Amino acid sequence: MPRYADPGSCPDCRTVLPAAPAQCPTCALPLRGPTAATLLATLTRADELLAALRASAPAPAAVPVPAAGVPVPPAAPAPAPASGLRGSSVPGSCSGSARPACSSPRSRSWP
Ligand SMILES: [Zn+2]
Repeated sequence: MPRYADPGSCPDCRTVLPAAPAQCPTCALPLRGPTAATLLATLTRADELLAALRASAPAPAAVPVPAAGVPVPPAAPAPAPASGLRGSSVPGSCSGSARPACSSPRSRSWP
């Protein structure tokens, strides 16, 4: 059974259509003319593509579903970087600088 292209139902609202309808009796979608024909051809093509894709797909595997109500443990926080970094190893550090703010690492206020 085609999933998209179904001349027996409205492509928009899926109402079952009478034979040779000029438009959908429910939503008034025009079902004649080049645009409607193009739509049907496109939907037919979509069915073909879907069938081809489905044929190429492996058998669906069982998708593990997390059990409801079981809280997922939060990710552990990233460990703090090792405290081996000292002033001389940090780029842009105060080593060798004569700025007053650098003389006291605890003093962060501007003059
Ligand atoms: Zn319709």
